[in-house]
Amino acid sequence: MGNEHLFRAIVDHTTDTITIKDLAGRFVYANPGALALVGAERVEAIVGKTDVDFFPPEAIALIARTDAEVVASGVPQSYEISFNSAFWGEKTHLTSKFPYYDETGEIQGVVAVVRDITELKRTELALRDSEERFRKLVEATFDGVAIHDAGVIIEANQALADMFGYPLDELVGLDGPSTAAPEYHAFIQERISTNDTRPYEVEALRKDGTRFAVEIVSRPAHYHGRRVRVSAFRDITERKALEKGLVLQNERLRELDLMKNNFVGTVSHELRTPLTTIRGYAELLEDGVGGELSDTQHGYVQQIVEGAGRLERLVDDLLDYARMEAGAFRLEPREVDLARMVADVGLAFEPQAREGLVVLELAVPALAPLEADPGRVEQVLGNLIGNALKFTSPGGRVAIAVQDGEAAVRIMVTDNGEGIEAHHLPLLFDRFYQVDAGTTRRVGGTGLGLAISRALVEAHGGEIGVESTPGAGSSFWFTLPRGA
Ligand code: ADP
Repeated sequence: MGNEHLFRAIVDHTTDTITIKDLAGRFVYANPGALALVGAERVEAIVGKTDVDFFPPEAIALIARTDAEVVASGVPQSYEISFNSAFWGEKTHLTSKFPYYDETGEIQGVVAVVRDITELKRTELALRDSEERFRKLVEATFDGVAIHDAGVIIEANQALADMFGYPLDELVGLDGPSTAAPEYHAFIQERISTNDTRPYEVEALRKDGTRFAVEIVSRPAHYHGRRVRVSAFRDITERKALEKGLVLQNERLRELDLMKNNFVGTVSHELRTPLTTIRGYAELLEDGVGGELSDTQHGYVQQIVEGAGRLERLVDDLLDYARMEAGAFRLEPREVDLARMVADVGLAFEPQAREGLVVLELAVPALAPLEADPGRVEQVLGNLIGNALKFTSPGGRVAIAVQDGEAAVRIMVTDNGEGIEAHHLPLLFDRFYQVDAGTTRRVGGTGLGLAISRALVEAHGGEIGVESTPGAGSSFWFTLPRGA
């Protein structure tokens, strides 16, 4: 192939624009790429014309100056140029220029090879932009961040350098896993080779050899064409210390709680004996066993009996509380005639209801016998009825109802008293919880009754609960499973 043909083949098929101008600045040649650019088919569309016919004024100066320099010096030039052309719109071009000579070695004009690099520029800018944003993000975090290729650190932020006590440039190039305590090396390698992305904790080594706890999370990523991992490191020394402190504190609190329970148990137990003695002898006096009493004396003794009785109930609650906290109640289940029991307990509250001008209603169907600890069921029922009476004003009503079911019996105590706001309900059965300590102080109570009731009902395998509407009343209920 002759030179001429070779030249043709190249300039016809390149996507670059190739033009040649004579020394007067007139185009003497344009390749197909140049024709395509200006939307022409014939070379006459370009040949014979000058730059002014194609380029906007702001581009002309640079083109003319570089042409002149190439002609004057004979040295090729290359530059990027962006402008908006009526022919091809807003574009960036990379232009290379060199002189061409005649046979005598005289410069005849300038050859320009022009490549459209608009897209390339845009991608480059976008990439630089996103890299910049990423870098800012990484520099702004407290976490240490590293990019590593099979463990070898290729990028890291200042926070990581500070964390590990290395100058940043020393950190880059290090084998990442080797900055962990030796016993973790195999584990970390495994994480890297299996591309595991779950967070993990290791003991890390600072440059000075001291250890610290660090949490690491890694993700695979592409970085400059490489498959790498991006890892974030968090110094968790403080968190670890806090956790350890909390564990110790918890243990200590558990110990204290146990001590308190033991104390409550022992004291209650010790209180119970003399109280029984006081009430016993006071009752004897009340009955006139110790001799005839004047009306005044009788009145005093009655007060003693009542006071001792209240104290005993309180001490019983405390004993139950200590038992409840210690684990489980020992139930003594036997066959119980529940209908009868409910009626009896209801009846026992009659005097108190009458005194408070509250109507006590009973609706109990005949029931098949049930296995339960009668004393404990009485206690729960008594507590619910006692509460209902306490929180219901004169003129009110407390209804006790029993629903028989195949799997369980359900006992309900419903009042039309003051009711309870919804946000208290989930806490009501917690120990010591009282809706309003003020009111309760007025009506008496420790906040233990419902907690003990729940423990007792649950010990039976049953459930306890409440529905309530403030101002309208409450309905406390519990179930006792059949065949428990
Ligand atoms: P307390 O000894 O204080 O009565 P409980 O555990 O039996 O302890 O009850 C806890 C709290 O629940 C009471 O202080 C009271 O605020 C609320 N409460 C219980 N029963 C009723 C009820 N029938 N109506 C309104 N509030 C009630």
